[in-house]
Amino acid sequence: MQAVRLKEFKEPLEVEDIERPQPDPDGAVAEVVGCGVCRSDWHCWQGDWEWFGYRPDPPHTLGHEPTGRIVEVGDEVEHVEEGDEIAIPFNFACGTCDLCRNGHENICENHIGLGFMNEAPGAFAEEVHIPNADINAVPLPDSIDAEAAAGCGCRFMTSFHAMAHRAPVTSGDDVVIHGCGGIGLSAVHIANALGGNVIAVDLMDEKLELAEELGAIETVNAREVDDPAQEVVDITNGGADISADALGIETTCLNAVNSLGKNGTHVQVGLTTSEEEGYISLPTDEFVAKEIDFKGSLGLQPSRYSEMLSMVETSKLDPQALVSETIDIHQVPDELEAMTDFNTVGIPVCTDFSS
Ligand SMILES: [Zn+2]
Ligand SMILES: [Zn+2]
Repeated sequence: MQAVRLKEFKEPLEVEDIERPQPDPDGAVAEVVGCGVCRSDWHCWQGDWEWFGYRPDPPHTLGHEPTGRIVEVGDEVEHVEEGDEIAIPFNFACGTCDLCRNGHENICENHIGLGFMNEAPGAFAEEVHIPNADINAVPLPDSIDAEAAAGCGCRFMTSFHAMAHRAPVTSGDDVVIHGCGGIGLSAVHIANALGGNVIAVDLMDEKLELAEELGAIETVNAREVDDPAQEVVDITNGGADISADALGIETTCLNAVNSLGKNGTHVQVGLTTSEEEGYISLPTDEFVAKEIDFKGSLGLQPSRYSEMLSMVETSKLDPQALVSETIDIHQVPDELEAMTDFNTVGIPVCTDFSS
């Protein structure tokens, strides 16, 4: 089958023929229906995330935002069968550790990152293997097929967990989202649906226009103001209730934290880059004086997908609104290359893996 292969960090990615996966006894194989192209793929390709454990030994198949259709299941799988249409979280869980048993499968003790670790080859491929399929293959409701769910990949489900569970956004909250890439735009859309008053911050007018279409009531072009954080404080008469850094660089993280008012909550959604290597210096005394919470957010528990999918079913959320284009597997390397200069808007989704 065809797959997008990382052969060497930072060197051009290649589409090549590799062996189809075989299911483990507790695993399943899905035909990939759609897989979003994400900045996280770009980071993995650059070899950025060694400090996070997301640095596979090449050669490795990239891609971590799939939906699919089950084509084969292992002997021990009980709840998944051939033909099932499924969403596939990138945060694979074991299902048996204390965290999994207590509803925190997204931060499982035995976490395997799909497409980021050698244990889980990625989904820019005709087929993908899902370990512990009874936990990690998330059935879609009848009204949402795998094609329609293709916009629900990592950026969307990650943003859902960040906004609905970690923040959590409630009606009337002033919510500021710094960085309007895939995760940021998803967060704008989801925070708006949860009743927040959303302010979007980015450097590109094109992305801010899209943020407005997705529900932002105000936007700030950080290039056009001296201090984007102060701008948000002014707009909100004292600071936002919730801020999110949806990019993961020092500037956006600090701007997000500094946008908050007293008793505010910051949610860190983006992982840092090779500049920061996981460390950003923060105004901790401000956290004390204002009683600010700083929270991390990773993926979404398979057991809580139903909350997000029910909002898609009732059209409160529309993951397709963020899909900028559909592409074939041979276009994936170029899409990732274009992310080097941050000049991509919206989310391309690969939907053709065999052409
Ligand atoms: Zn676990
Ligand atoms: Zn992603």
